Parts: sequence; C-alpha cells; structure tokens
Amino acid sequence: MTSADVVDRRPIVIVPVGSWEQHGAHLPFDTDTVIAVELVRRVVERLTDIPLFPTDPIAFGNSGEHGDFPGTISIGRETTTKVLVEIARSCDWADGVVFVNGHGGNAQAIHDAMEIIRFEGRRAMAWSPTTTDSHDTHAGHTETSVMLAIDPSRVRMDRAVKGVTEPLDQLLDLMRESGVRAASPNGVLGDPRGADATHGLALLDDWEESLSSSIHLWHRVRP
Ligand SMILES: [Zn+2]
Repeated sequence: MTSADVVDRRPIVIVPVGSWEQHGAHLPFDTDTVIAVELVRRVVERLTDIPLFPTDPIAFGNSGEHGDFPGTISIGRETTTKVLVEIARSCDWADGVVFVNGHGGNAQAIHDAMEIIRFEGRRAMAWSPTTTDSHDTHAGHTETSVMLAIDPSRVRMDRAVKGVTEPLDQLLDLMRESGVRAASPNGVLGDPRGADATHGLALLDDWEESLSSSIHLWHRVRP
C-alpha cells in the first residue's frame, strides 16, 4: 500500500502496541509485540467490510518494573501515552485509530492517552486481551502457549521454569515498589511448563473474536 491507495479512502488505522521486556529465560523480549501484531494480522484478514490500515508496531512501552532484568528497554508511562496521542493527532486523514495492546503494563498509559485523544475530539479505541487466570500473567502458561501457536521457533521450552504463582493482586504492590525481580527472581509470573500450542491457538481465536466484535461495535457507533 502507498499513499496513493489511501486517497479518498479514510481508513481506520490499526496499531499494534507491544513492549521490549524480559519474558523469563524462554521467551523473547518482543513477546507482547509479536502477539499484538498477530492479532492485528488476524482481524485485518477477517474484517473485510472495514477498511483497516495496519501499521508497524510500537515496539517499546512502559516496562520499568522489569528494569532489573538485563535486556529490558522501557520508555515509561508518560512517553508511551505521548506516543499514542501523537499518533492519533497525525491520523486526521483517517477515520479513527485502533490500538491493539499486547502488554499489561501499558494499561494506564493507554487509558490516559484515550482520555486525551477523545477530549481533543478524535475517534479512537484501545483493546487488550483479557485472561481469566490471575496466577499466570507474565511469561507463564498463557503467553508461552500463545507464542508456541504463533512461532514455536522463538520459544526455548528447554529453559522454561516455574515462576511465582500467587495471584497478581497479591504481588502488585511489591512489584510497583521494588520491581518484578523482588516478586519473582526468574521474572516469570505463572508456570510455563506444559504450555501447548493448541491452548495458545484457542486463546488467539477467542481474542480475535473479541477484538473483531469490539471494532465492529465501535465502528458502528458514530459520534
Ligand atoms: Zn508479555
């Protein structure tokens, strides 16, 4: 697609939002980005009745709590918010922006960005996958299974070890104050052993369904 293909079209811009942070010893730094990109790819293929305009992902996010682990790169909450706001501001040639977020740590930044974007009178929506298992929130069974479904060559199952499995709400205060390493020395929140691609594929299908219907609903409601 070139600029000539966008003239007279007013598409919906859809942007994967990820992170670059440690995901234990067995998953790559861009795990959240890979998942967001895959979900965008799926809905663009599926929602042929909506003119979606996918972009490259935002590859860095708010990952300060993982900073104790070498390799992690964070741009912080405020900068993440600003990046999203500026993207929306520069998309006035489009009919709105959809942010598809793969990183839980971006939630507050995205919430803040959406308030500013909507206050300024622009159309935007944000979506994040939900998991019901609060004992398995980072590099555990869920994320590892999803990565196995997307690209098993990027998963080192021989290195997968159990992390801390207390529910997230019992760990959040400690992680906010002292970082993820204080709560989980190996950086894993959950247990990736026994992760499997079939489960990952089922999760991706569910998320694709949820994201697609969210975009449909949002697209239908005109201000
Ligand atoms: Zn992740």
